[in-house]
Amino acid sequence: MAGRPLPRFPEPDTQAFWDATKEHKLTYQVCAKGHIVFFARAHCPTCGSREMTVKESKGEGTVYSYSVVRLNRHPAFAALGPYAVAYVDLDEGFRVLTNLAGLADPVNEAKIGARVKVRWEDQEGGLSLPMFAPA
Ligand SMILES: [Zn+2]
Repeated sequence: MAGRPLPRFPEPDTQAFWDATKEHKLTYQVCAKGHIVFFARAHCPTCGSREMTVKESKGEGTVYSYSVVRLNRHPAFAALGPYAVAYVDLDEGFRVLTNLAGLADPVNEAKIGARVKVRWEDQEGGLSLPMFAPA
């Protein structure tokens, strides 16, 4: 089975995020004025500050919304069967586009408002992708 599409490096804004995934750490940024920033960027999209601090999330959150993909012809996804793509709101205040994991029947088991916790899916080359499974 082919691997999932992954970032191509060098990737200046998100390199630190991807490096942290190798240790199964989900990171986000906070600017000097306290705005929460995700995905990783060189500046705050709210105020323009370039003083960004990286923090580690506990990896716990709530499903904001989701959609179930029933058929994906990309070789990396074709064998998955139905799977749920979701927005998860992390408790620290940022939203991640991700997959829901650990659901035998995503059509009937995925729920808006469900509590979820990060589960890492290791990839070739050492990167890991944050997925979310029922807490
Ligand atoms: Zn800001």
